[in-house]
Amino acid sequence: MTLHTQTIHELRAQLRRSKVSAREVTQALLDRIAALDRKLKAYIWLNRDDALAQAEAIDRTGAAKDGKPLAGVPIAIKDLINVEGQPCTCASKILQGYVAPYDAFVIRQLREAGAVLLGRTNMDEFAMGSSTENSSWGVTRNPWDLERIPGGSSGGSAAAVAADEAIAAIGTDTGGSIRQPAALCGCVGLKPTYGRVSRYGLVAFASSLDQIGPFTKDVEDCAILLGVLAGHDVKDSTSVAQAVPDYTRALGKSVKGLRVGIPKEYFIAGTDREVAAAVRGAIQKLQSLGAEIVELSLPHTEYAVAVYYLIATAEASANLARFDGVRYGLRVAGDDPIEMYRRTRGAGFGPEVKRRIILGTYALSAGYYDAYYLKAQKARTLIRRDFEKAFEKCDVIVTPTSPTAAFKAGEKMDDPLQMYLSDVFTLSVNLAGICGISIPCGFTTRPKLPIGLQIMGKPFGEEMILRVAHAYEQATEWHLQRPNL
Ligand code: GLN
Repeated sequence: MTLHTQTIHELRAQLRRSKVSAREVTQALLDRIAALDRKLKAYIWLNRDDALAQAEAIDRTGAAKDGKPLAGVPIAIKDLINVEGQPCTCASKILQGYVAPYDAFVIRQLREAGAVLLGRTNMDEFAMGSSTENSSWGVTRNPWDLERIPGGSSGGSAAAVAADEAIAAIGTDTGGSIRQPAALCGCVGLKPTYGRVSRYGLVAFASSLDQIGPFTKDVEDCAILLGVLAGHDVKDSTSVAQAVPDYTRALGKSVKGLRVGIPKEYFIAGTDREVAAAVRGAIQKLQSLGAEIVELSLPHTEYAVAVYYLIATAEASANLARFDGVRYGLRVAGDDPIEMYRRTRGAGFGPEVKRRIILGTYALSAGYYDAYYLKAQKARTLIRRDFEKAFEKCDVIVTPTSPTAAFKAGEKMDDPLQMYLSDVFTLSVNLAGICGISIPCGFTTRPKLPIGLQIMGKPFGEEMILRVAHAYEQATEWHLQRPNL
């Protein structure tokens, strides 16, 4: 039996019956990483000895038998979530040498559930990007084709799960950074409703958009892991005091009679032919399973990219002001404090992060605030209302996750707009604050690359999107395919 290829639910059954030990599982993952990660570069830091010690503690205390949901399950963490005593670089030079002094809320939840924290995964610097190429640690490779990118910004987490270098992983999604890499690597990724998961201990990119969520090998695992991450937290005032359901209860239910909305603005020129065909096929599949297909319109979709790049950059410019050489990580000396800030930020931030800070500062500056930032906020409200209206007519909305499959490393690096467009189908979900999941729905031919199906749900409608995702997954076999590594 190969342990690294197992899902959470498969492993859990074996750990509970003592068929394997948590130590054996963690060792199997470490061996897999040792064999593969030199070419994939999904991880930027491994928690080798401590991970084994955590696993041994699970074995000693019998946590698996106590029914802890993740007892002995090795999980990888995106490098922008604080884990006490571990580096947290956000893939930026500016945080080199920084060691996290505390655990994020989700890390406490994971520890309590018995998870083994394996290590830290690569990402675009401060989560800004769609390819993991904006990392000061170098590029992560797509497990399906090493010449291609894994998507981003949580590319390391997606690649680790797709390559069986982690049983599951944690990422963040501000405009698509869980769903898009999940689609491009062929795994499951869910962005929870804004407020469903506490952001305490997450290094903020755009605070009104950021959410933490799971990467898994199948929908059942996604439901299990979301249940661990979700919850109210007094330390994040935007987290919502709403009970966390048992998400696994949503699984195994039929989609008969459910209304699946298809927004015409998401089926447009510019989407790859094979991607469009796979998504159309998935819609037909849902229909054959008894769902009712409802054509609808989200008329403000065309503004999403512009609105997102004003709001996200504005918030980023404020959030990233704290990296000044005084409090965290890198400091480059200067003759006076201003010179020191300038040199530190000049040397510490990469080009995309600088571009965002400049854009955001401009959008917020006196005289431009009303024309850009305020207007973007108004348009954001219109986008949210589009969804409110749409969800009066349907239970979920189905679209492609990304307009193309994984592209080649370097292909879009000189053209930021092309890069930004790889999130056209995911950004609106963050702007509206609703939830969305990406699941595998096919492959391109020559080369064979995964295609993702996005299922969007109402605020706190995670059970509904998991239900539809699970019904589709159980009727198909895409999620069982593995890259040839
Ligand atoms: N690709 C988008 C961006 O570059 C989204 C990133 C994210 O979700 N963190 O901003």
